[in-house]
Amino acid sequence: MLSVIIPAYNEEENIRKAAGVLSSILTAEKLDYELIFVDDGSTDATWREISVLSTEEDCIKGVRFSRNFGKEGAIFAGLKRAKGEAAVIIDCDLQHPPALIPEMCKLWKQGFEVVEAVKRTRGNENLFYKLFAKMFYSAMKANSDIDLARASDFKLLDRKVINALLEMPERLTFFRALSSWVGFNRTAIEFDVQKRENGKSKWGFRKLVKFALSNLTSFTYFPMQLMTVLGLIFFVFALGLGVNTIVQYLNGVSAEGFTTVIILVLITGSVIMLGLGIIGYYISKIYEEIKFRPRFIVTQELGFEKHEQ
Ligand code: UDP
Ligand code: MG
Repeated sequence: MLSVIIPAYNEEENIRKAAGVLSSILTAEKLDYELIFVDDGSTDATWREISVLSTEEDCIKGVRFSRNFGKEGAIFAGLKRAKGEAAVIIDCDLQHPPALIPEMCKLWKQGFEVVEAVKRTRGNENLFYKLFAKMFYSAMKANSDIDLARASDFKLLDRKVINALLEMPERLTFFRALSSWVGFNRTAIEFDVQKRENGKSKWGFRKLVKFALSNLTSFTYFPMQLMTVLGLIFFVFALGLGVNTIVQYLNGVSAEGFTTVIILVLITGSVIMLGLGIIGYYISKIYEEIKFRPRFIVTQELGFEKHEQ
């Protein structure tokens, strides 16, 4: 069986359409499937749509979160409940073309355990967004060897990979990078990002920056290493200036004026504070992990067998 996991946050106009398109494609392929809609705390009629659908068709299931926990949580909730030998994760807004699923399945049957759909083009994004994304991806690639530039969350995962992901104890996850971090036999197919048909993107700029920072720190120590390098440069500079000051002192000339002192104090102060900030950020991540709070809270489930709940 193939499990299709569809995270949905305020997607009332898209649920029925997505279910229809997916069902027709998967039925045409004669695949045994289940559609798991994960309502990530929507405030519109998303859950009502899902519940109606799930009463109409047995293969449609729904999970509802108690509030908006983010797409990451939704994906993991879906993976946890997936019964299939493989799972496909796909966006509810049909920006990921469902028509690719049969091809992904074919590759899976050939023995690939992760089939990633990578973006051929990045769709409609403004310049600022593109620049920011590029910076983030190159920092990730340079420091953790995970290339995300064209990656998307649209993937097919074999049961082995799903289990490996579910076994990870961490709660601050970044699905796109984790599914690459776990390794396995992988391949990629390309797709063009479609236009969003209804509603609008859930990613504001602030949310994106937060997301990028948190993922960068969870996969790399790059900011901390940057501080070390900065410290080294400072040290060389300090040595030079120190020797210079002593020589001048021995020659009976004391260094002139406050200007140098003021500049040095200001620079050291800010570099130290910057360093503290970076360490603080990592500590806050440790703190968040160590609290062992669940990744998400489920309030309702529909379509799953009783004993599974
Ligand atoms: N999504 C979610 N929780 C969120 C934000 C988004 O489950 O907090 C879902 C959303 O319903 C959609 C998918 O994640 O199915 C991708 O979101 P969106 O289309 O807003 O992102 P974009 O395509 O702009 O990257
Ligand atoms: Mg989208």
